[in-house]
Amino acid sequence: MEEARIYFGSTPATKEEKREVRSPFNDKVVSIYPVCSADDAHKALKIAQEAFAKHKDSLLSQRIAWLRDVANRLKEQKEEFALTITKEVGKPISFSRIEVQRAIETIELSADFATSLAGETINTDATQSGRKTMSFYKRVPVGVVVAITPFNFPLNLSAHKLAPALVAGNAVVYKPTPEAPLTGYKLAKLFIESKYALPDMLSVVYGDAEVGSALVQSDIPRKISFTGSVPVGKIIMKNAGIKKVSLELGGNAATFIDKDADIKTAASRCAVGAFVNSGQVCISLQRIYVHEDVYEEFAQALAEDTKKLKVGDPYEPDTFMGPLINEDAAIRAQRWVQSAIEQGAKAILEGKREGRYFYPAILADVTDEMEIVCEEVFAPIVSLVKVKNYEEAIVKMNDSPYGLQFSIFTKDIELIKRFVDDAEAGGVVVNDIPTLRFDIQPYGGVKLSGIGREGPRFALEEYTELKSVVIV
Ligand code: NAD
Repeated sequence: MEEARIYFGSTPATKEEKREVRSPFNDKVVSIYPVCSADDAHKALKIAQEAFAKHKDSLLSQRIAWLRDVANRLKEQKEEFALTITKEVGKPISFSRIEVQRAIETIELSADFATSLAGETINTDATQSGRKTMSFYKRVPVGVVVAITPFNFPLNLSAHKLAPALVAGNAVVYKPTPEAPLTGYKLAKLFIESKYALPDMLSVVYGDAEVGSALVQSDIPRKISFTGSVPVGKIIMKNAGIKKVSLELGGNAATFIDKDADIKTAASRCAVGAFVNSGQVCISLQRIYVHEDVYEEFAQALAEDTKKLKVGDPYEPDTFMGPLINEDAAIRAQRWVQSAIEQGAKAILEGKREGRYFYPAILADVTDEMEIVCEEVFAPIVSLVKVKNYEEAIVKMNDSPYGLQFSIFTKDIELIKRFVDDAEAGGVVVNDIPTLRFDIQPYGGVKLSGIGREGPRFALEEYTELKSVVIV
């Protein structure tokens, strides 16, 4: 059985007490990890603090070489990483392979953009008293960073934190999700065992709320970088005190299908957006607002496309949907669908549950108060809403506490321009699903969906402070 190891700095360690990770697909034990305590979290933070002081003058060229080496070694171990993701979280193997490729690119892009992370001169002579002075600012690392990640993209979302934070010169204490500790460990191992590694600049601890809270509450880290749910995000915000915090939280992504849209294409893409990774994507398509003129045609096409998606064994290359992360998640999906139907929703596809599996559900005649509409479902459930026009759709889309990504399918360029301005979201997509993310983009939400932006170039800025200089 493969065991995830703690890293206290670059030194591997373990604990007597271990916990098992069971495959969401077949319930077999797939990995084990040591259970860390709050003391372990403090120990890792202390090591990070010392390492940061020691490597303050490390060269950017070395840190860039470090990331490139990690990316190259990840390329050599692509299949092993993909299998580890599938083993731990039940993601269909073809999508685990895509995630590995994306993680390689995230690390490479972090190395690329690090070369241009710079300050600029400031025209102090624009103020009378600033005469004959010279001023500029530099970007400097924040110090110790705590990185906490969720289960749904356990590799790439970790790469989005570790790579920019380390290349910017910070020391990092990383707590991967307890659902995929081995994936997190293997990634950390690549960093720690690299021939270009700066010793002790990365530590790894395991656990859930206790260890997470200890990391967040400590005075040592200067920045908390968190990706996960809104309830945990709220706790982190309360616990963090005065330090930088980035929160990449949940959403309930929506799209509008206009009457002039290519309905066949829109429907087949919406089936992907709603059901990929069994809906366990923060930008999973959850609400579809369809112009009344094309509603019936769209609903029928969506149902037909959805029925073609293969639900099954995540190790088979043509499987589109695997299990949910655990049985509780599948039971919750079932309960929310049942409750919506009891409140008057009509099931186009009812979405039955089999253990940890939940089959795709498409619901119509939904109301704004139903959980499947106003909460983040994080399961393969999508709602269809018939609307008279764009104006009605955008009001409903924006009537949400979340604001991660929205999209529109239309040929009307004037409408596209209005939508770009009207959408209350961190990102908008035109003529495709809101589930689209390119790792080079700035990515993050407004409202409850979070604070700050990831995407290597933008994360690099968030992992640095501006230091202002005046020479008199
Ligand atoms: P989660 O919030 O349950 O857990 C995320 C991480 O927080 C885990 O590592 C967990 O151990 C840790 N944690 C739990 N309690 C903590 C505490 N008190 N202090 C510190 N850390 C604590 O999320 P999850 O179920 O793993 O992931 C699903 C959620 O993540 C969804 O809501 C999804 O939308 C969101 N998500 C957001 C993005 C984004 O980029 N916006 C991306 C992926 C997932």
